Amino acid sequence: MLDALTDKFNNVFRTLSGRGRISEENIREAMREVRTALLEADVSFKIVKDFTEAVVQKAIGREVIKLLRPGELMVQIVYEELVNLMGPVDTRIYYVQPPPTVIMMAGLQGAGKTTTCGKLAKYLVAKGHHPLLCAADLQRPAAVEQLRTLGAQLGIPVYTDDSKVAPHGEVAKGAAVSVCRAAIAQAKQTGRDVVILDTAGRLHIDDALMGELREVNTQLKPHQVFLVLDAMSGQDAVNSAKAFNEQLEVDGLILTKFDSDTRGGALLSAKMITGKPVKFIGTGEKLDALEEFRPEGMAQRILG
Ligand code: GDP
Repeated sequence: MLDALTDKFNNVFRTLSGRGRISEENIREAMREVRTALLEADVSFKIVKDFTEAVVQKAIGREVIKLLRPGELMVQIVYEELVNLMGPVDTRIYYVQPPPTVIMMAGLQGAGKTTTCGKLAKYLVAKGHHPLLCAADLQRPAAVEQLRTLGAQLGIPVYTDDSKVAPHGEVAKGAAVSVCRAAIAQAKQTGRDVVILDTAGRLHIDDALMGELREVNTQLKPHQVFLVLDAMSGQDAVNSAKAFNEQLEVDGLILTKFDSDTRGGALLSAKMITGKPVKFIGTGEKLDALEEFRPEGMAQRILG
């Protein structure tokens, strides 16, 4: 995970440390390599440019060139700027009174949305909550079934309505809203304090998908909307983050598959482009592989 980036950073710092005193030009040269490393990790160009410039300015401001061994301070500065770039942190989930708190999960098919619904439900149970899962991807019976299985595995109830599932045609207008609304009503009746809506996902963003999600969003006004993104899909994740964020009032991002060989840049870019905090990262297929996002930990991982 993030190994390529870490290796590159280490090379840069090794070169700087090996030099003894360094000049401003040495710093700029090193930052050119950092820039390449970040671009190769799929971080967007503008972010990379701003980031490296911020590091150079800080290095000049802190008079790195006057130090005998400048490498350590450079690592520290890059660490601080990475934390700045990935923060601020807000991993809180905001609960409402009276319950239930409604959390809408959105994302492209394959991003890990349904799995993350299960993970989030498990996480909430560990915090003393009583979630209800709602299967609202009505065009994909497999997604409904998957959520049912996850619920059974976790011992968490799942609201489904097979009569509204429409695998071969258009999902009837309003069907997703009505399923979600029924789930919320059931939560009220059965004392479940959080409802997690597993909404429609498609391989690509299209008008029908966005129309359906906007409808759920505007009619039900979920208290929080989390966007699930596949960290491995690099720039695609960034583009879909931008599109979803323009259409929905996204509150936070969840980046999945951080256990895989991800280049990691999607996290930095998606956060910057949407301006929304990363709430969680998914670190495996198992249902406990969900971590609250900590920029400090991630910056440390990147720097090795
Ligand atoms: P959805 O179509 O967005 O609902 O995606 P799914 O929840 O079905 O997940 C797609 C695939 O990604 C499944 O094989 C999941 O097991 C896998 N997956 C989800 N999250 C993670 C993760 O954090 N790490 C890894 N390695 N796999 C994940």
